[in-house]
Amino acid sequence: MNKVFFAFALLGGLCFSQFKQDSIQFKKISDEILLNGLAYNHLRELTKDIGHRLSGSENYDKATIWAENKLREAGADKVWLQETMVPVWVRGKESLKMKIGNESWKEMVFLSLGNSEGTNGKDVEAEVLMVNSLEEFEKLPASVVKDKIVFFNYKFRQDFVQTFWGYGDASKYRVVTASKVAEKGGKFVIIRSVSTGVDDVPHTGVMRYDEKFAKIPAIAIGNASADELAKSLKKGKVVLKLNSNCGMKAEKVNYNVIGEITGKKDGKVIVVGGHLDSWDVGEGAHDDGAGIVQSIAVLSAFKKLGIQNNHTIRIICYANEENGARGGEKYAEIAKKENEIHVFAIESDAGGFSPRGISLDMSEEKIKEVEKWAPLFLPYGIYDFSGRYGGVDIYPLKDQMQTPLAGLSPDSQHYFDIHHTPEDTFEKVNKRELHLGAVAMAQIVYMVDKYW
Ligand SMILES: [Zn+2]
Repeated sequence: MNKVFFAFALLGGLCFSQFKQDSIQFKKISDEILLNGLAYNHLRELTKDIGHRLSGSENYDKATIWAENKLREAGADKVWLQETMVPVWVRGKESLKMKIGNESWKEMVFLSLGNSEGTNGKDVEAEVLMVNSLEEFEKLPASVVKDKIVFFNYKFRQDFVQTFWGYGDASKYRVVTASKVAEKGGKFVIIRSVSTGVDDVPHTGVMRYDEKFAKIPAIAIGNASADELAKSLKKGKVVLKLNSNCGMKAEKVNYNVIGEITGKKDGKVIVVGGHLDSWDVGEGAHDDGAGIVQSIAVLSAFKKLGIQNNHTIRIICYANEENGARGGEKYAEIAKKENEIHVFAIESDAGGFSPRGISLDMSEEKIKEVEKWAPLFLPYGIYDFSGRYGGVDIYPLKDQMQTPLAGLSPDSQHYFDIHHTPEDTFEKVNKRELHLGAVAMAQIVYMVDKYW
């Protein structure tokens, strides 16, 4: 403990003895998770024994049973499954070929976007029309777009230091372009992946259709292929041939997996969570296996340290974040119906990298309270409380019941190299970084439980 931290703490308005007590508890939490934590081992099981786990898939069912067992092993007082309907989207076989001028057909690496319809196993071939932005596309008359493949060559902005800003900016090209192109009679859409990577890895992710227009296919290619396509198009005519079988098949029941340690003082609830589903490529390690195992680690640390929590601490492994967010909606709907009071919810869904901060989506008054705790977090590398975002799964709690939200904010520089790709694997996660994220989550939950 050093004088500088005490000085910060006093400036921040924490009383001297409280600060000392809390900093001792922070260290205990950190030691427990860094020395004995099982998050990394759990992540290995989830990613290697089960693998990716899209909503409605067999692997999601396996992950459900796995999460139920892990929450019991971690010492939850109560574990249960909460039913929710989810969409079942299936990728199937897919291929894409490119022909530049009179050259021969060349195979391309790509991924259909999530929720996209395919070509029903038939070849769909057309000439490519490139645009660099939506603004440029909006200016084109339908006669120019008709029967063409539209290539949105929009680049992930490198000037944002926080890559989530770049993601927010570029992901609209993934989400909305198919229907815009369909409206003007185009055959299908191809986008430059929403990726910071300097490689040829394609990134999938959710897209949405406007029901008013034809559901044309939407696919993504990696940055290197996008560069090559753009270069070829400047020289002359390029034709693409797509054959895919993806599509929305049905709806079925999946489950949120929930475990809690009951509050010793009251029945108010603190939610800690991540999402159990992932895209159907890679292993869903950073997105969001990390958030799941960190959340379980929070419960485990409270139990191991014998912390007498005032409120109920509820760990939620949410269903269907990636292509529907139904799990989050269902949980909030039921919590509201049961008149449960939720004092706080935190989600980890930004990767298992070194934690840098905690993002706060709550009233100014509450933000000021958390900011007073900042000196306690500093020794653990947590300094940034400037973000104003919680998480997709916990958002309905704010929407329905004004619950104060928080999101773990890890270093974001690598995340969008691998997000929603075959590269999001266990090997990309560092044990210490993952465990430090769990430490920060347990620490803020400890503070909220004690003071709110
Ligand atoms: Zn995620």
